[in-house]
Amino acid sequence: MSKKYIATPTKTKEILNKYKFSFKKSLGQNFLVDVNVLENIIKHAGIDNSAGAIEIGPGMGALTEQLAIHADKVVAFEIDQRLLPILRDTLQDYSNVEIIHQDILEANVAEVIHSHFRPGQAVHVVANLPYYITTPILMKLVRDKLPVTSLTVMIQKEVAERMAAQPNSKSYGSLTIAVQYYTEAKIVMSVPKGVFMPQPNVDSSILRLVIRAQPPVQVEDEDFFFNLVQASFAQRRKTLRNNLSSYFKEQYTKDKINEVLETVGIDGTRRGESLNMEEFALLANTFYNINQ
Ligand code: SAM
Repeated sequence: MSKKYIATPTKTKEILNKYKFSFKKSLGQNFLVDVNVLENIIKHAGIDNSAGAIEIGPGMGALTEQLAIHADKVVAFEIDQRLLPILRDTLQDYSNVEIIHQDILEANVAEVIHSHFRPGQAVHVVANLPYYITTPILMKLVRDKLPVTSLTVMIQKEVAERMAAQPNSKSYGSLTIAVQYYTEAKIVMSVPKGVFMPQPNVDSSILRLVIRAQPPVQVEDEDFFFNLVQASFAQRRKTLRNNLSSYFKEQYTKDKINEVLETVGIDGTRRGESLNMEEFALLANTFYNINQ
């Protein structure tokens, strides 16, 4: 008989009953109960038996179990103390898993990677993320310049679309630029609500982020660049010229802003959503250099 994986409705219900576990909506607890979806996540994540995996929010161990089977080693961060005895039980057959009881936003992930994986070992982040903090978690992980190869995560469909968007689309915005500055982003699969217990109210997608060796553009000052990008999308219906005028109103006249736009050859009547990353970098570097 084949093994009864954690990620099945019957096994999950059995564990819920055994531990009288009640889901905490505030912690984004929607557990996966479909092994096929998990196998797809593992496949897209590029996991093989020499790879290390970092998981965020193992829950009852549905994804952790599949990672333990397919990867060399798994380290998982879980914030909910009530899940620790459950995970000890559900994952008792796997000696290559370590659970760390910590809020991922507080964790020193670089140090954990250093102390838990072999030097040079490929490490991938793989997670069904708690939806209430998807963006802070991903931004922390990509900004920290961790020694990880990729992040493959189940997240809310709309957020995945924003992170993987192209210019001139509704989803394209400052989050797109922030994510794509550090990674190559691609949606690899959409996932129906029915594979979760309890079912979330929103649709989900699996997003794959491959960490870039170098950002695709060179910027003089990253904070200045990201602030200018954000300002360009401050009011989506406004022209670039008007958004920049509001942003720089203490520093520059409208004429000066028009002059800079003309110098870089970007039409000020365009909207922020039509600029690609190279154009934002050019604009930010030009404004930055005026002050130097
Ligand atoms: N991986 C499991 C699965 O797929 O069935 C559970 C995924 S569930 C969407 C999200 C998990 O993240 C929950 O176990 C929740 O307790 C945990 N979690 C929520 N906030 C967290 C945080 N800040 N740090 C670490 N884990 C967190």
